[in-house]
Amino acid sequence: MTEHVTRFAPSPTGFLHLGHAHAALFAASAGGGRFLLRIEDIDRGRCRPEFEAAIFEDLAWLGLAWDDPVLRQSERGDAYRDALDRLNALGVLYPCFCTRKEIAAEIARAGAAPHGGLERGSESGEGPRYPGICRELGRAERAARLEHGDGFALRIDAARAAALAGPLTFSDRHFGDLRADPEILGDAVLARRDIGTSYHLAVVVDDALQGVSLVTRGADLLPSTHLHRLLQALLDLPVPEYHHHRLIGDATGARLAKRDDAHSIRALREAGWKPAAVRAQAGFPD
Ligand code: GLU
Repeated sequence: MTEHVTRFAPSPTGFLHLGHAHAALFAASAGGGRFLLRIEDIDRGRCRPEFEAAIFEDLAWLGLAWDDPVLRQSERGDAYRDALDRLNALGVLYPCFCTRKEIAAEIARAGAAPHGGLERGSESGEGPRYPGICRELGRAERAARLEHGDGFALRIDAARAAALAGPLTFSDRHFGDLRADPEILGDAVLARRDIGTSYHLAVVVDDALQGVSLVTRGADLLPSTHLHRLLQALLDLPVPEYHHHRLIGDATGARLAKRDDAHSIRALREAGWKPAAVRAQAGFPD
C-alpha cells in the first residue's frame, strides 16, 4: 500500500470533542505514512491560545503523535496573498463590498420575485449562495468604491473559473470517483475583508505545501472539496486523494458542536474516562 501523508487540522476556537477525536484518529491511521498537525487559526478573533494548548494536550492524552513541524496558518499570510495574486491574474476574482445584511436583502427580494428562486448554497454551513451583486458592478463603480476605500472581500467568479479550468474530477475513498461541480458553493469568498484569506484558500494552499496526499475530513465538507478541486487546477497544485468520513454524533445522533462542552475530551477526562475508552467512543476501539 502506498504511504500517504495525512493531517488533522483543527481550529483553536473551542475544546476538542469526540468528533475531533474521530477525525484525528481517522487521519492518524488512514495513511500509513507521516501524520501532520495543522493549526487553522486564521480567524484571530475567534482563536484562543488556551484552546491551542488544549489541542496539543488532548491529542497527546489520546495517545496520538504527529510529525513535525506543526504548521500555523496565522503565519502563512504571504503564501495566501501569493495565491490570491495568481488567481487575480487569471481574472477569476472580484471585490465584493456587500454586507451580510445587503446579501440577505437581495436574496429575500429575488426569492420573492416570480421567477427568482435562488438555490441554497451548500450544507457546509456557508448559508445561501451569493447572488452575484458585485460581480455585476461596472468597472467605473468598482474603481470608485476601491478608490473610496470601501472594505471588500474577494470572491471567486465560479462560472468563469470553472470554464477556464475545464472538466475536473477527484477521487474519494468512500464516495468513489466524482466529477467536480466547482459552482456548488457559488461565488465563495476566498479572502474575507477582516482576515485576508478564507478556509478554502488556506486549506488548499497548505495541503499542497505540506505534501498532504490523502485529505481526510468529515463528510459535511464534501461540497467544499468541489471548490478546492477548482482552486488546485487554477493554482496548478497537486490533487490529493480524499476520504470524507462520517460525523460522530452524541447519544441522540445529533451532530456535536464545539460549544457542547459536555462532550469535550477534557470533560470526559475530568469525569474519569481513560484514553482507550474515549478512543473507543470515538469509533476507534483498541
Ligand atoms: N479547520 C477545519 C475544521 O476544523 C479543517 C477541515 C479540513 O480538514 O479541511 O473543520
